[in-house]
Amino acid sequence: RDELKTILSQWQTSGTSAIHVSNKKYDALALSAAILKNQLVNHYQPKVLLATGRMVGVETLVRWQHPEDGMVYPDQFIEVAESEGLIDDLTHWVLHEALQQTREWHLMGLPIKVAVNLSMNNLATPAFADLVSQAVASAGLKPSDIVLEITESQLKADMRVPLEILTRLRLKRFRLSIDDFGTGYSSLVQLRDIPFEELKIDKSFVHGSHANATLEAIFDGNMRMARQLEMDVVAEGVEDRDDWNFLRGRQCDLAQGYFIARPMPGHQIPDWEKSWNLRILEESLTTKPIA
Ligand code: C2E
Ligand code: MG
Ligand code: MG
Ligand code: MG
Repeated sequence: RDELKTILSQWQTSGTSAIHVSNKKYDALALSAAILKNQLVNHYQPKVLLATGRMVGVETLVRWQHPEDGMVYPDQFIEVAESEGLIDDLTHWVLHEALQQTREWHLMGLPIKVAVNLSMNNLATPAFADLVSQAVASAGLKPSDIVLEITESQLKADMRVPLEILTRLRLKRFRLSIDDFGTGYSSLVQLRDIPFEELKIDKSFVHGSHANATLEAIFDGNMRMARQLEMDVVAEGVEDRDDWNFLRGRQCDLAQGYFIARPMPGHQIPDWEKSWNLRILEESLTTKPIA
């Protein structure tokens, strides 16, 4: 128990540690070399049920371990990957790595789902749905173990081919998630035409909503719409206990954010889960115990 407490306090301080963080922009040549040289690394951030606290999944978040510049975050290279034709290579790298890692967790008795972020450009390749299914099958996983996230802001692009591919993925039983919801100004027609199962309310309507009537109204509006459409709702950007308590009073299903855990290397997830289960009890984070 004491050992777990020590681990727990390490989690709570990690992520903000002495890692050097770069603010540069990077070009296509550097990025393609990085993919080939295996300098990318996936981190994983837990998604937990608000009712019981149980971890049911993780989101995959890619980073670039730059030999000189230190840890580079995706906001500094995803756009380059998209505009320079590298996003398919990047997505494949991220997906394969995430599938291997998830297979390991399952074999360890942690049957969690894994979410991978897609770019709209990935959905320009007609074979994309088949490539993803093959990768999932050869990793020994099921499509229902995989959540595919696409940001709402990307849903404005020419929709015919992407829509077909998303529909095909859905028919194969992948779970589709609409990310950063509320910031993209997509027409709600997208929600009618694409069978999303999960809606992630953007962090700008989550953190601090307990103390701001406008944010609260937007949050509740999004919640109600998602409920009507029978989607699962994830709140992102849960940064403190007030955010957590606010969500517990709502009918939100899942929570993700720094209050629960920062993104971390995959091998740390099993120990993190143990310490989190302890923290749920010690801090009375839920009323229902984990079943
Ligand atoms: P996202 O998919 O919306 O992921 C959530 C982002 O919010 C992550 O940033 C995460 O570290 C951060 N975050 C998590 N909890 C909190 C919190 O409590 N407070 C705050 N302020 N932030 C929190 P990150 O890792 O820098 O990723 C940024 C974006 O880059 C992601 O946003 C996603 O759109 C994109 N991205 C990441 N990995 C991939 C990838 O493999 N492929 C593609 N296409 N995009 C990716
Ligand atoms: Mg995401
Ligand atoms: Mg998001
Ligand atoms: Mg985002």
